[in-house]
Amino acid sequence: MKRQVDYLIVGQGLAGSAIAWELLRRGKSIHVIDEPGNTRASVVAAGLFNPIAGKFMTKAWKADGVFPYMEQFYSAAEKIFNKKFLHLLPIYRPFISTEEQQQWKIRGESEELERFVLAFHEAPTFDQVKDPFGGIEIAHSGYVNVSSWLFSVREYLLSKEILSEEYFKEEDLVEGESITYGDFRAGKIIFCNGLAGLKSKWFQWLPFKPLKGETLEIELESACPRLFNRAAYLVPSHKENIFNVGATYQHPPFVDGPTEESRLDLKSKLEALLAVPFKILHQDWGIRPTTPDRRPLMGAHPRNKNVIIFNGLGTKGVSLAPYFAHHLADWLDGKGDLSTEVNIFRFKALYSG
Ligand SMILES: Cc1cc2nc3c(=O)[nH]c(=O)nc-3n(C[C@H](O)[C@H](O)[C@H](O)COP(=O)(O)OP(=O)(O)OC[C@H]3O[C@@H](n4cnc5c(N)ncnc54)[C@H](O)[C@@H]3O)c2cc1C
Repeated sequence: MKRQVDYLIVGQGLAGSAIAWELLRRGKSIHVIDEPGNTRASVVAAGLFNPIAGKFMTKAWKADGVFPYMEQFYSAAEKIFNKKFLHLLPIYRPFISTEEQQQWKIRGESEELERFVLAFHEAPTFDQVKDPFGGIEIAHSGYVNVSSWLFSVREYLLSKEILSEEYFKEEDLVEGESITYGDFRAGKIIFCNGLAGLKSKWFQWLPFKPLKGETLEIELESACPRLFNRAAYLVPSHKENIFNVGATYQHPPFVDGPTEESRLDLKSKLEALLAVPFKILHQDWGIRPTTPDRRPLMGAHPRNKNVIIFNGLGTKGVSLAPYFAHHLADWLDGKGDLSTEVNIFRFKALYSG
């Protein structure tokens, strides 16, 4: 006798955890299959979220919807787990010139950005950083303790016996009116397998763009009153005075593993940012599942509406995962269409059947 569930979910990174949680909240039955240690994305993420970002420091895509929902999502989960995941903390970005300072004096008061600028400083403000021209403090920013969030979801799923810690074998899936896999029969299967999607039988035609990132773990002599971010970011870890520093952005071809080149790159960025000594403790690396248009990959396989993908969260998994898990769950519930911006239908010309 097969175990009947509404959804099988492959992967328990930020995408899989968010959709699993969202579906459970809606009373759906799920079973998650995830092989621990098979990811090189969520486990490396510093968890930073920033509504004003990018090279040109513009408002993040869908910031007005994504950030309020993200806060609501992790805060609600905190109450259930009795743990703190979401840390709201302003980001301080030092200016590098008087020109930039003057530009921000005007930009920071614009209708678009005003809500996200907490304070504007014309003079040095924080002892820990080099900020001779002052800087701006960004509001509605902070970090999520990703490892704690993923661990908590994992423990919960295990306690309910709705997680199998094993490798999902594509060849064992039987497609039909419903989805059959091992002991399970499901209405639908949702692939949240990150970069493994690149080799997926169903979704390898999608234009995944792997983007390698390297990070450092450093120690300072004291805590920081803000998240500092200029070329490199500093995010507190769960250990006192230990920070995650990131990140590099490397397009293929790249080698797996940490490199000396990235260590030196991050070290020199830190030296330009910090006015206090630091000690490098560890270096890590990962690969982000990004897309050419920097939008998630969501929707049903062109040939089988029961085979679904939730992927392509790119550099912003922490903030995008909750918002788009909600959007995906609405669509699965029959509440409206998927937005064309995220629907994989936008790449249908690449599918050859
Ligand atoms: C260096 C670095 C720093 C980052 N920093 C940030 C940050 O500060 N803020 C932010 O918002 N984002 C950050 N990101 C991006 C973020 O990590 C990604 O957007 C996010 O992790 C993608 O999550 P995912 O669930 O789609 O993929 P993954 O985390 O890769 O999860 C996929 C899951 O699928 C499982 N899986 C795959 N194949 C199988 C299989 N066959 N069987 C069983 N299980 C399988 C894997 O084990 C894994 O658990 C960073 C990424 C990197 C690399």
